Amino acid sequence: MQKDIDLRITPEQASNIEKVRLIFSSQTGIPLNDINSVRILRRSIDARQRNIFVNLRVRGYIDEVQNDPVFINTYYPDVKDCPQAVVVGAGPAGLFAALRLIELGIRPIVIERGKNVRDRKRDTALMNREHVVNPESNYCFGEGGAGAYSDGKLYTRSKKRGNVEKILNVFCQHGADPSILVDAHPHIGTDKLPGIIEKMRVQIILSGGEVHFETRMDKLILEQGTVKGIETNTGKAFMGPVILATGHSARDVYYMLYEQKIKIEAKGLAVGFRVEHSSHLIDQIQYHNQEGRGKYLPAAEYSFVVQAGGRGVYSFCMCPGGTIVPSASGPKQVVVNGMSPSNRGSRWSNSGVVVEIHPEDFPEYAKYDELSLLKFVEDLEELAWIHGGKTQVAPAQRLYDFVNGRKSISLPDTSYVPGVVSSPMHEWMPQFVSTRLQEAFRKVGNSYKGYLTNEAIVLGVESRTSSPVRILRDRETMQHVQVEGLYPCGEGAGYAGGIVSAAMDGERCAEALAAKIKQPK
Ligand SMILES: Cc1cc2nc3c(=O)[nH]c(=O)nc-3n(C[C@H](O)[C@H](O)[C@H](O)COP(=O)(O)OP(=O)(O)OC[C@H]3O[C@@H](n4cnc5c(N)ncnc54)[C@H](O)[C@@H]3O)c2cc1C
Repeated sequence: MQKDIDLRITPEQASNIEKVRLIFSSQTGIPLNDINSVRILRRSIDARQRNIFVNLRVRGYIDEVQNDPVFINTYYPDVKDCPQAVVVGAGPAGLFAALRLIELGIRPIVIERGKNVRDRKRDTALMNREHVVNPESNYCFGEGGAGAYSDGKLYTRSKKRGNVEKILNVFCQHGADPSILVDAHPHIGTDKLPGIIEKMRVQIILSGGEVHFETRMDKLILEQGTVKGIETNTGKAFMGPVILATGHSARDVYYMLYEQKIKIEAKGLAVGFRVEHSSHLIDQIQYHNQEGRGKYLPAAEYSFVVQAGGRGVYSFCMCPGGTIVPSASGPKQVVVNGMSPSNRGSRWSNSGVVVEIHPEDFPEYAKYDELSLLKFVEDLEELAWIHGGKTQVAPAQRLYDFVNGRKSISLPDTSYVPGVVSSPMHEWMPQFVSTRLQEAFRKVGNSYKGYLTNEAIVLGVESRTSSPVRILRDRETMQHVQVEGLYPCGEGAGYAGGIVSAAMDGERCAEALAAKIKQPK
């Protein structure tokens, strides 16, 4: 027999499965000897009060051996003789689209401008050490997409847009720790993600699909209003309907669509900084304890949304125990983002803090039509590059100094390897953004005591929170509103934000494409 119950226990008790079995027994009255084993089904931390609890949903196996599967395997058939489709981009959207196509009997041909996930690492190391930005291989481009070197946070607010559980199970099937199915805020970690991504590629190839690295789509092949395939920089064309999952850093794709007169529209996004505190300080604040997190709790997370100047200002992609990384993908750009290893063990915790912006906020960019916010973001990243010293050195300021409009005389240590230079960001950031950030940090400082401190540092700029352009598609068919055979997909098309939502969008595009191919003529 199996029995599921909810427990609210201390972090120390929750860290020991034998103790959980004992508590299960005392709570249910079932003799310990009858409980073969217990399994944690859900886990979340309740740190709202001084006494911290872990909420567990636990399954007990009573006089029964625990042999139900920890995760669900998906069957991937051989598709080598099946009709083919082109998937441009091997980020989460593209990879999950390709795997779903295989499930549905379509042969995916995946085209990726960057390198495979291992070789890519050399280019990110060069970026950190020598400030060399390879425009085809960096933290945004290459196998695994922007999510490959990240914190690997796997929670999403857009649960209605697809099957989150399915996505998590596919990750487990390719090597992710099944704890992602249990934790309320699952994450994989940058040290584990590359191995998982590699296994997904191997699965695509084993099933009869193709994966082409260092191959950039440069043009869509259009015939009488239908996309028939793509042209690439290698001179090779690939034919079939196209899932376009190129991410929001592929600005050349937006320019290409604009020039090919394929309908797009300007889309709002959010821009700001990365703020970094010592992880110990964030632990102290969030766990209400001067000692910090202690032995049994993970590096603490935080998240906030406040209103400032009539706009939402919010924390974004928080990385507890993580590092700040250079996320530029081209020349004359400084862009920051965050990642963390699976143990979230660094001595820093960072987060984006960003202000929502809309195309109408910057009338001076209206002349760029659909590309207005794209141009705005390009200019902002170039400003950061100029003020950072025209390398990957990031402009930075102590948090309290920024809020009070003072240039910092010195800067605290940071995890950002390329280095930082003191810069009065309150002066050169667009006022629309900087004044709202200042107001928001003051508000946050009032509710999180100790957060607004000069021991924290802000680095500019966080500008790739989502796409500044939407590639218009039909809700039902998922095809572009104007041309057939084109499936705008994932974050770059404006329909996702984050690994899981991009993966879910990839699956949905694959389903729509498969349904169209299999439709009786
Ligand atoms: C440092 C960092 C940390 C992050 N941390 C997290 C996190 O913890 N959790 C989370 O949910 N999200 C995180 N994100 C965001 C997340 O990675 C993205 O939301 C997600 O990757 C978007 O998926 P996508 O497949 O739509 O696009 P992308 O991941 O951007 O993938 C697009 C792919 O297309 C390729 N491509 C582009 N143009 C072409 C072309 N012309 N031809 C061929 N290929 C092309 C690119 O090389 C890239 O591999 C992070 C992002 C970064 C940069």
